[in-house]
Amino acid sequence: MNLENKKFYDINQNSLSEIAGAFLEERANDLDLRNRINISDLYVESKIEKDNWEYNKHSEAEKEATINVFDLGKKGYNLIVWISPDDGGNVYKEGRLNIEFPVFGKNEWVVYGRHVPLLCDENESFELAKRLLKNNGKSIGSINNKESVRQQPIGFRIEEIDDWIYECKKIMPEFMEIWDFIEEGKDTENKIKMEKDVRMAMERADGDNYLFESLMARMGNEINTEGGHGSSWGSENNRMGIIVSVGINGELVYGLGNVDGLKHCEKCDCYYSGDKCPLCK
Ligand SMILES: [Zn+2]
Repeated sequence: MNLENKKFYDINQNSLSEIAGAFLEERANDLDLRNRINISDLYVESKIEKDNWEYNKHSEAEKEATINVFDLGKKGYNLIVWISPDDGGNVYKEGRLNIEFPVFGKNEWVVYGRHVPLLCDENESFELAKRLLKNNGKSIGSINNKESVRQQPIGFRIEEIDDWIYECKKIMPEFMEIWDFIEEGKDTENKIKMEKDVRMAMERADGDNYLFESLMARMGNEINTEGGHGSSWGSENNRMGIIVSVGINGELVYGLGNVDGLKHCEKCDCYYSGDKCPLCK
């Protein structure tokens, strides 16, 4: 697999929720970290063997961490805190704090969770991990250096899993704004809205990832050009834009293409040929 061509998502392959998740996690131009919390779908244990774990130099460690999340779950730890530290920008320019819930589903173990941007460097991440271990946290392997933080999620046994947010407030009070935001259901609202935007853009894009990404941007959902898990579609095609034209039945037709020689409409950011923008005329 060519790592350089790995994309954050592919509208012909990923689920609606996965695409919405990519736009939340990799959201550009929003300084409020709380708007980049993602809620993940159920991940079944058997998917570990099927998934491609070659996306970057941390992927082996992340595979091991995923296996450890399930092992902790089987040992009765129902709240898992997995710290994925930034590595000084080598692959990850920021870290991620993952709150995971392993449960036994219909036939096998599944995990779901919340994923929050974490602005801690490797040292701070190591300190956080050590503090969690002191507060009754358990890991499968030992966490004795900065590198092991990424491989070793930390499990907690809590009586009422519905109270997980109170447990997080207790053991990680420094992220209180994040916990309050989740407690108020605002992360769920964001995800629902993003899925709605994704659905709308997908209907118009007709399988074209470049067009899809432009439509999303026009709805205010801008995505980073590059991140630890891939890159965007638009990044390679800077001279591409949305072209509006009028179809044979007078209907508006949207297409994505090279905009050289076309006129640009300041009002709606589309490109067109002819006298007036067909959209705003
Ligand atoms: Zn226009």
